[in-house]
Amino acid sequence: MRVNPSLTARLRIGFLVLFALLLIVSLLGVGRLFQIRVNYEDDITRYFQLELQSERLRSGFILEQAAARPATAHQKPSQGELDAAAASFTNAAGEARKLTENDTELTQKLNRLVISQTAWRKAVAQPLIHEEVPPARVESKLTSAVTNSGEALASGTSAARAAAREDARTETRNTTILVAAGLGGALLAALILFSGLINSMRAPLGRLVEGARRLAGGDLRTRVEVGGPVEIASLGRAFNEMANSLERDARERDRVEQMKDDFVLTVSHELRTPVTVVKGFAEMLTAQRKGLNSRQYEAAEVIAESAGQLQKMINDLLDLARSDAGKLRIEPEITAVRPLAQRIGRQMRPHFEGKEQQFTVSVEKDLPDIEADAGRIGQVLANLLTNANKYSPEGSQVRLAATQVGDEVEFAVSDNGPGLDEEQLEHVFDRFWRADSSESQSVGGTGLGLAIAKSLVELHGGAISANSSPGEGATFRFVLPIAKDGRPKRKEPSSRTKAGAAS
Ligand code: ADP
Repeated sequence: MRVNPSLTARLRIGFLVLFALLLIVSLLGVGRLFQIRVNYEDDITRYFQLELQSERLRSGFILEQAAARPATAHQKPSQGELDAAAASFTNAAGEARKLTENDTELTQKLNRLVISQTAWRKAVAQPLIHEEVPPARVESKLTSAVTNSGEALASGTSAARAAAREDARTETRNTTILVAAGLGGALLAALILFSGLINSMRAPLGRLVEGARRLAGGDLRTRVEVGGPVEIASLGRAFNEMANSLERDARERDRVEQMKDDFVLTVSHELRTPVTVVKGFAEMLTAQRKGLNSRQYEAAEVIAESAGQLQKMINDLLDLARSDAGKLRIEPEITAVRPLAQRIGRQMRPHFEGKEQQFTVSVEKDLPDIEADAGRIGQVLANLLTNANKYSPEGSQVRLAATQVGDEVEFAVSDNGPGLDEEQLEHVFDRFWRADSSESQSVGGTGLGLAIAKSLVELHGGAISANSSPGEGATFRFVLPIAKDGRPKRKEPSSRTKAGAAS
């Protein structure tokens, strides 16, 4: 079984290990330093006492010398004083031996002193007590042997004390370096531990961020590899569940959308024939005015007009449903702009005259041809001009202009009517959207005209936009690529409209 501790457990373990390491290193370091200090103090005391005993040995020897050879001539050498001095020497030597136990060098020096002292006593002091004067050479040699051994012990002791101090210093320094290295090592271990912890989270978190970005970008098939500490693994699982449910919802939405499109397509299609029949009969009736009384004629006219509106709405719905299904077809061919603009201008002029609006059509000289389905682009222009006519008041000015902009031809329909504010402009190409202004509400409409215009322009590889300042009128522009040698220089249309164009 793979152990995967949680983030909190990992942090706890990390801190515990770090704490234990620091504690062990600190305790060992402090213990060692304490031990060095105690040892040093013991050594210093011992050497101090040894120096004391050396002094006692030296004074013992001086007393022995004084006993064997008194300072004044009327004093006699005393066996008793010599014994007392010798006893004091031996006692001091015994004390000193205890102190040099662990130091062979000092023990040897002490032994040498004791031996030379014993030799001196035997060969110099004892003969003098018995009033026999030893040979001067022997006395001088043995006396300086004792003195030299005494000095060697004293200097050896002070050297040992200095060495003990130096040792203590060196050991303290080494221990301090070791403790510092230990603490540094513990901190390094902690650093490695924590960076390992961070690394264990970084990769799965990175995957989650990347996944969230792709999901937000619309790729609903995005799933992340679950991993890392328990919390992040749960986050990964939750992310995948969310992506599953989003994908399920999207699939369901697409299905419903498809059903709706199919429904609209079928119903519009089925309605078209009866409505055409009704319109046809109504128009036939209005054409036979003589056979009808005025009420019958009026009724026939209303039926024909309503059937006409219904027919337009059904056609618009059919166009949109086909566009959604990728079945809206256009038949582009090389088209001259001027005749197209003039034809639509001619068709629309009566409407403008009916509202006493000033309508102008201006087409730039030598405008290149476009590759377009003239019927469909005519439909777009008629939609835009109908809107300008409908929503602008009597006496307004409406202009249709065609100019070359770069390697495209731009069509612009502008009016000086009520215009649209910024928020309305955002929705103007939405389906079924109509401004809730009095101008819009007072005239009929379905809110489909501009949505269809957008679909058709995009299907041609062009783009449409609207500009307006409220109260100062509106301008709707769309651009289409210029046809070159019978072949258009086309932009890439969006995938859906492209599919429609191809089928
Ligand atoms: P319809 O005209 O059938 O309502 P459209 O899609 O053609 O549908 O237009 C959508 C809405 O945009 C209109 O209802 C109107 O509120 C607004 N609109 C369109 N053209 C103009 C214009 N030239 N001036 C002011 N408002 C306009």
